[in-house]
Amino acid sequence: MNEFEVKTYYAIALDPIHIGAGGARLGRVDLPIIRDPATNLPKIPGTSLSGPARTYTAMQTNRYRWKKDGKEYSCAGRGGEGGEKHCGSVNPACPVCVPYGFSKGSGNSMQGLAQFFDAQILLFPVASLTGTVWVTSSIVLEGLGLNSEFQAPENGFYPLGEQLKDKRKLNFGWLMLSRGEGSGDLTNLSVPDMVKQRAVLVSDKLFPKIVNTNLEVRTSVSIDPATGTAEEGALFTYEAIPRGTVLRFDVIYNSGKYFRVGEQELRTEDGGEVGTQWVKAQVEKGLKLFEILGIGRMGTRGMGRLKVLNLEKGDC
Ligand SMILES: [Zn+2]
Repeated sequence: MNEFEVKTYYAIALDPIHIGAGGARLGRVDLPIIRDPATNLPKIPGTSLSGPARTYTAMQTNRYRWKKDGKEYSCAGRGGEGGEKHCGSVNPACPVCVPYGFSKGSGNSMQGLAQFFDAQILLFPVASLTGTVWVTSSIVLEGLGLNSEFQAPENGFYPLGEQLKDKRKLNFGWLMLSRGEGSGDLTNLSVPDMVKQRAVLVSDKLFPKIVNTNLEVRTSVSIDPATGTAEEGALFTYEAIPRGTVLRFDVIYNSGKYFRVGEQELRTEDGGEVGTQWVKAQVEKGLKLFEILGIGRMGTRGMGRLKVLNLEKGDC
């Protein structure tokens, strides 16, 4: 049995997704989204994935609000002040507290066995005269084990997808680019064929520019909570990652085999080992609901649904 497994997930945004950076406005936008300081590319922090995943796993396993021995628990969320609402059971292992962690004071806490990393944009949809094309670059494709060299022309595009092979010029929003020499093959990537067939490679320098100038900017109205009506002059604009964006994120699943919490071994409900497969199965029960309930705080505005494309087939 392995001590850990790294799984790369691919996901497609079914709605615009807004994960706010908080604080100050950026240029023309009141509510900017979070960006990676190194690349200036929008991203979704790992905590914005693990938070909702935890809640949804709790919903799927009846640990959202539940009772044991007359005591009330909620394994979703932060577990109240000091985490006392988390059950913190390791034998049998709680399907929420063990994968996502809990803290109930000294000797009775553990870091989750699942570690979430930031979601990065992998293929970004842009409107062109021939319809939507998905843009990517060498750097964002790195480390995906595709066994292909990705080389983009410096100031042009290279079509990765069949449907664009005969295009000599393409517009990316307002930007017009010519086809150049390049290489790359997306055949083995676990994303929809429609996306792969309309994928184009651009340089690592051009990619953030195309993304940042084609983000969705929406206008909304602030609602006064007291009266339920629109506040006067309270229009605000917010940025979002557009629908159709393909993202990738990694989760490391650690085995609980060698863990002890307060001298206790970790065991599953039927007395089995808490291995990586068990941890992954619990987390994926939560990831499955991303496409229905979404992530981010703007779910009520019809935003945030994210379909994870490569979940294990199972009964969850
Ligand atoms: Zn629990």
